[in-house]
Amino acid sequence: MIIRCESCGKEKDMLSWQKVCYPCQEEAYKEKIRAGIINGDKTTTENETDVYCPYCGGIYEDDWRIYEEGWHDFECGFCEKSFETKTEISHSFSTYRIDNK
Ligand SMILES: [Zn+2]
Ligand SMILES: [Zn+2]
Repeated sequence: MIIRCESCGKEKDMLSWQKVCYPCQEEAYKEKIRAGIINGDKTTTENETDVYCPYCGGIYEDDWRIYEEGWHDFECGFCEKSFETKTEISHSFSTYRIDNK
């Protein structure tokens, strides 16, 4: 179903009940978290799919360290404060039968 996104105005293939496209939803979600950090409501972020600086809301996406399991020290490149991030890697498994003759 082609719907015009209420946020970016682009026509996208969406589900009938959706008002904004997926990239806009993601953007809105990130903005909500960042706003919470900036106005002081949030001092930590937990189990997010992105690393947010807990001081300024800066987002780290491409730092190789975030993909290694465990604790990492960061110095924020945006606000120069130090913070820690914990990476938890979850695994999922799929199994398929091989027909044994
Ligand atoms: Zn959009
Ligand atoms: Zn920062």
